[in-house]
Amino acid sequence: MKIRLLTPGPTPVSPEVAAAMAQPMPYHRAAAFKEVVLRSRENLKWLFQTTKGETLFLTCSGSGAMEGALVNTLSRGDTIIVVRGGKFGERWSNIAKAYGVEAVNIDVEWGKAVAVDAVKKALEQHPKAKAVCVQASETSTGVGHPVKAIADLVKGRPDTLMIVDAISALGVMPLPFDEWQIDVMVAGSQKALMLPPGLAFVALSAKAQEAMKKSDLPKFYFSFAKELASQQKGETAWTPAISLVLGLDVALAQMKAEGYEKIVARHHRLAEATRAGAKAMGLELLAPESPSDACTAIKAPNGIDGQAVVKEMRDRHGIIIAGGQDQLKGKIFRLSHMGYVDRFDILTALAASGDVLKRLGAKVDVEKGLAAAEAVFNQG
Ligand SMILES: *Cc1c(COP(=O)(O)O)cnc(C)c1O
Repeated sequence: MKIRLLTPGPTPVSPEVAAAMAQPMPYHRAAAFKEVVLRSRENLKWLFQTTKGETLFLTCSGSGAMEGALVNTLSRGDTIIVVRGGKFGERWSNIAKAYGVEAVNIDVEWGKAVAVDAVKKALEQHPKAKAVCVQASETSTGVGHPVKAIADLVKGRPDTLMIVDAISALGVMPLPFDEWQIDVMVAGSQKALMLPPGLAFVALSAKAQEAMKKSDLPKFYFSFAKELASQQKGETAWTPAISLVLGLDVALAQMKAEGYEKIVARHHRLAEATRAGAKAMGLELLAPESPSDACTAIKAPNGIDGQAVVKEMRDRHGIIIAGGQDQLKGKIFRLSHMGYVDRFDILTALAASGDVLKRLGAKVDVEKGLAAAEAVFNQG
């Protein structure tokens, strides 16, 4: 059976990236690798859309970069504001708690985006908050939060940082780091960057770099200052995941060749087709009002277990998708359209989910769904 990976991380790896990672192992202190590190720095700046900020890569999963974002900019006893509207919003809070930082949580119903007003109120009530932490794309619910509007609230506050988890958003949706005045933004290799898991990426504004000088939270492996000083010279503080960095070099070159606007437009179209297809089939989206272009959460029809959909998709069709987590377990299934994904992946996934839902007893109109998705692809 042909396996198709459509989970919101990991995502499919392009053949060119896979080939680059199969090279004989170079020494990471050799001149050739230094060039790869320096080129990745520049290309990451392009992807983050920053010329004023700094970027670096880390050998860890996305959560490591989230932890790094907090431990490098905050101090014991600080208060931060966290948008908590899903599994990954919770993660900001949990990291803060582990380090003795107080998180003021803005709890958002899973499937909804945060109201900008709620963030405004929280900032008024906690004017000393050192950061606002949010997900650009809350992968657990398929929601996109209003990053620009929140960044607009934060940018006039000299002591507050705008910290964005763009792990499933960088390379999917527009998040111009300089223009929106974001201070710390983190991403991961196994989402839109078409790489296996194991690398994380960070962008840091001048304001964030100032905050780093005052931060007293414990850090060692994740010291951004140490890592940044090394990468500015084309080195890394520790042994990096060398194969993944070689893959990154190719993935970023492929992304640059495609172009920033085209990448964003492609993801938007894939997402629109998925949403239109699911709706026309007779299904409901979990986040119809503020969907993320990274992945689509579809509600399991009444009486049908979302986990059974996931299992049948895999067993019958070789399509690996994700279910819901925690309170959404069994209630949704999630189709990803991030990274190395094309229209036929989406049409195949829609056809297969329609087939599986029918077998499980749901009333769905698969043909109508596929026609609606096709219509999106055939626009323009
Ligand atoms: C995948 C993901 C994470 C977690 O990243 P790991 O690489 O699993 O540590 C965090 N936030 C978001 C929005 C994600 O999609």
